[in-house]
Amino acid sequence: MKLPIYMDYNATTPIDRRVLEAMMPYLTEHFGHPSSRNHSFGWAAEAAVEQAREQVARLINAQAPKHEIIFTSGATESDNLAIRGVAYAYKARGNHIITQKTENKSVLDTCKALQKEGFEVTCLDVDQYGMVDPEAVRAAITGKTILITIQLANHEIGTIQPIADIAKAAQEKGIILHSNAAQAVGKIPVDVQALGVDLLSISGHKFYGPKGIGALYVRRKRPPLKLSPIITGGGHEKGFRAGTINVVGAVGMGRAAELALELLPEEALRIKALRDRLEQGIVSSNEYIHVNGHPEKRIPNTTNISFEYIEGESFLMGMKETALSSGSPCTSATLEPSYVITATGKGPELAHTSVRFSLGRFNTEEEVDFVVERVKQTVQRLREFSPLYEMVKQGIDLSTIQWTES
Ligand SMILES: *Cc1c(COP(=O)(O)O)cnc(C)c1O
Repeated sequence: MKLPIYMDYNATTPIDRRVLEAMMPYLTEHFGHPSSRNHSFGWAAEAAVEQAREQVARLINAQAPKHEIIFTSGATESDNLAIRGVAYAYKARGNHIITQKTENKSVLDTCKALQKEGFEVTCLDVDQYGMVDPEAVRAAITGKTILITIQLANHEIGTIQPIADIAKAAQEKGIILHSNAAQAVGKIPVDVQALGVDLLSISGHKFYGPKGIGALYVRRKRPPLKLSPIITGGGHEKGFRAGTINVVGAVGMGRAAELALELLPEEALRIKALRDRLEQGIVSSNEYIHVNGHPEKRIPNTTNISFEYIEGESFLMGMKETALSSGSPCTSATLEPSYVITATGKGPELAHTSVRFSLGRFNTEEEVDFVVERVKQTVQRLREFSPLYEMVKQGIDLSTIQWTES
C-alpha cells in the first residue's frame, strides 16, 4: 500500500491510463483545428471531436449528439452558460430563477451575480438530509419564473435530488430546468430523458478525464431553447460557445465517458461496498460521530462525517497520510463552517467538524481499513485535548451551561 491515500475523488480524479492513451495522438500528430475544412489535419480533429460528442451523449442518453452536446471548459462554465444563457435570452418573459441552498458555488454565485443585475432568485431550503421538496419547487414558481436550477447530486454530502419529480413541475408550467450533474456522472446512471431536464452540466475531471473540459447538454426542442452566449467570438459550438475546442480534452472526456458507461454497474457496487465499510468502521470506532446526507439517496462513493468536539481542520492535520476534505474545497481556506451542512439544519458544532471522504476507482479495501484505524486514533487523541469533551464525559449537559463573558 502506498501513502498518502487519496480519498478526495469528489474534488478531482486522476486521468485513467486508458483515457491518457486515447488523448496522446491528439497532442502531437493529430493537432489540427476542428474547424479547418480544407485539409486532413482539420478533418481528423473534427472526427475526433464528433466521436467524443457521441460518447458523452451515450453516457447521459442524449438523442442528438451533434445538436445537444456543447463542449465547455468544465462544469463551472457549463453552469454559467446555462444560467446566464437562459436568464439573458428569456428576460423579456420574466426575471425569476429558482435554486436551492446546497448548490455548488458555480450555481449560487452566478445566481447572486444575476440578482445584482435585477433578477429575482428564490433559494429553497433543504431538509435534514439535504433534499429539496419538489412541492416546494412547484409552490415557488410564479408567472415570472424562467429557470429552475437544482443539482443532481451534492458535492459534499452526496445527496441525490428528486430531479424527475421537479421536472414534472417544471414541464407543467413550461419552465426550463437545468441540473448540475458534475457529481453524479460516472457514479450513478444519468439519463437526461428519464430525468426530464432541458440543460445538464458535466465535468471531465470528475470521472477520470482531464481537467479543463466539460459539457453542457442542451435539449433539442421545438422551438429551440435559446441561450445567450457568455463567450463570444467565432461561431464555434453552434454559436453557444466561441473559442477553439479543447480537442484533446474532448477526446479524453469522450473516452472517460465510454469507460464510465462500461464500468459503472460493477464499479458503483464495488465502491459502495468500500464506502459502507469505511463509514461503518468509523461510526462504530468512537462516540459522538454522525453521518451527514441522505442514508440511501446518496452517490455511492461519498460519506460525510461530523466528529463532535473535534475541529475539522485539526482532524485533517492529524490525518496527514490521507487526502480528505473539510467543508467544500471552495470554502475550506476560509475556516467557515460548511454552508451545505448548515443548510441541513445542523449547528456550527457539527458543521465545523464535518469531513468528506470520497472514494473512487483506485481505492482498495486495505486503504479503507488503514484509514478507519487512523481515524480511530486521531479522534481519541484530539478528544484528549478537548475541554468540552471532558465535560461531556463527566456528565455535564453543555446546553445548560451559562458561558460568562470575561
Ligand atoms: C467539481 C464541481 C464543479 C466544478 O467543475 P469544474 O469542471 O471544475 O469547473 C461544479 N459543480 C459540482 C457539483 C462539482 O462537483
